[in-house]
Amino acid sequence: ASGYSLLRDPHYNKGLAFTEAERDAHYLRGLLPPTVSSQQLQEKKVMHNLRQYQVPLQRYMAMMDLQERNERLFYKLLIDNVEELLPVVYTPTVGEACQKYGGIFRRPQGLFISLKEKGKILEVLKNWPEKSIQVIVVTDGERILGLGDLGCQGMGIPVGKLSLYTALGGVRPSVCLPITIDVGTNNQKLLDDEFYIGLKQKRATGQEYAELLEEFMSAVKQNYGEKVLIQFEDFANHNAFELLAKYRTTHLVFNDDIQGTASVVLAGLIASLKLLGGTLADHTFLFLGAGEAGTGIAELIALEITRKTSVPLEEARKKIWLVDSKGLIVSSRVESLQHFKKPWAHDHEPVKELIDAVKAIKPTVLIGTSGVGKTFTKEVVEAMASLNPKPLIMALSNPTSQAECTAEEAYTWSKGHAIFASGSPFDPVEFEGRTFVSGQANNAYVFPGFGLGIIMSGTIRVHDDMLLAASEALASEVTEDDYLKGRIYPPFTNIRKISAHIAAEVAAKAYELGLATRLPRPSDLVKYAESCMYTPLYRSYR
Ligand code: NAP
Ligand code: MN
Repeated sequence: ASGYSLLRDPHYNKGLAFTEAERDAHYLRGLLPPTVSSQQLQEKKVMHNLRQYQVPLQRYMAMMDLQERNERLFYKLLIDNVEELLPVVYTPTVGEACQKYGGIFRRPQGLFISLKEKGKILEVLKNWPEKSIQVIVVTDGERILGLGDLGCQGMGIPVGKLSLYTALGGVRPSVCLPITIDVGTNNQKLLDDEFYIGLKQKRATGQEYAELLEEFMSAVKQNYGEKVLIQFEDFANHNAFELLAKYRTTHLVFNDDIQGTASVVLAGLIASLKLLGGTLADHTFLFLGAGEAGTGIAELIALEITRKTSVPLEEARKKIWLVDSKGLIVSSRVESLQHFKKPWAHDHEPVKELIDAVKAIKPTVLIGTSGVGKTFTKEVVEAMASLNPKPLIMALSNPTSQAECTAEEAYTWSKGHAIFASGSPFDPVEFEGRTFVSGQANNAYVFPGFGLGIIMSGTIRVHDDMLLAASEALASEVTEDDYLKGRIYPPFTNIRKISAHIAAEVAAKAYELGLATRLPRPSDLVKYAESCMYTPLYRSYR
């Protein structure tokens, strides 16, 4: 290839880091200024430039430009500065990016499959330049974070998730494929927007929707084989549960909002027992929000309790209560409930408001999965603090604007007694001379390592016990130092080590269950995981 095209190929471009010898060998003389820099110096320069931007979206766009220009440098930055850059390429900024995706859209970063491609999905997959794909993250854009239906602009989510697969989980970028399925949007603002990039029609539903998804699922398996992991992301719950139930026995599928979130939250709960004492079965859980995240977490908690005790599943569920937009889920509502809520309809009189549910149920753990911000009011947090010496409060809704409460609110309203974690990050909080560092209960802790474990072992189906294994692995990474600061999740700084550990435990479980096809089983799975991980260091082209 010519030097000019080398500089324009993000997989190979090294910019000023091309050495003198490479410049001679690859016709780069004169195309670059004389300086030769190290990757380290380039990293320092880009970080310096990024920090000049005050507006988060500008940082996001600078990172996307870098990814399109120099992929290895992009990942080097992300890996070395994960705490600083995660909020840029992921929640909360990715939410704003999706809202404005039409305007900032430059070059395709993934595949768009719309109703127009019906009957041709296999051909569309073949248009993607990489032929061997191991992970697909797919959305239909209907429930992007807590921001609702963003249609085709949801593409920012699969793109962001897959960059974390690489940066946090070490999955090679070339085997990752972001996909957005566009069946229209019910977002009137987008439909009225002359710059909207998606199909300008109301969402297809029912049979038309199911047929497109069926064609997609078949085409993916036909083109990439049995061992491609398909991660469903940010589908609305009426489709999410159905798609997962339909494809979990025939395809390697994983719903991050239902299963990944559950695994991460369970990890935080297991870790919190160190601070709270007792076992999971001793706790009472109350959720605000009974959708994908809420019921997914609830089910995994119940499953973990049955695995650890002799308590049957039905009994374990009775310690877990959920509130939806109509109030506490109780048995008198069972007829009108969506099927995924039915297991949670326990005997109790109807309760409308969260605060009254807190007073009636007396939970030890309060979890927000409603997508609605500011719903853990002062009254709610104070009630939790009056019921418990150390109330555990998780405000999981993303992005930050949708968080049920902020870290500062949780600590000040509970007078420093709450153990707090949130879906989007918050800065440390000073309260009465103490510094509280909250954990980020975000599925980014698990899916990258989970996916790596599946890929490296050639696992062909996802099993719930693999989610439990991931939870245990993550919980075991929380250190004494973290607990002292009040955090029930480790910092993201060590995430690659944590991911290797999660990958190893997930793979071990897959081998145990007979679902892994990479044989013989490597004896040291942690070492094996590490050896599989992508490194962003430049290669030399001689
Ligand atoms: P979902 O399936 O749409 O569920 C939302 C639930 O919240 C529904 O049960 C809904 O009630 C309920 N709800 C809505 N408004 C409410 C209100 N004012 N009061 C009480 N309940 C209300 O959405 P999801 O997939 O579970 O996601 C929910 C949120 O969790 C989103 O903000 C998402 O970003 C966040 N999330 C975070 C993570 C993480 O890693 N931290 C992972 C996944 C999701 P109805 O059923 O009555 O409509
Ligand atoms: Mn999600």
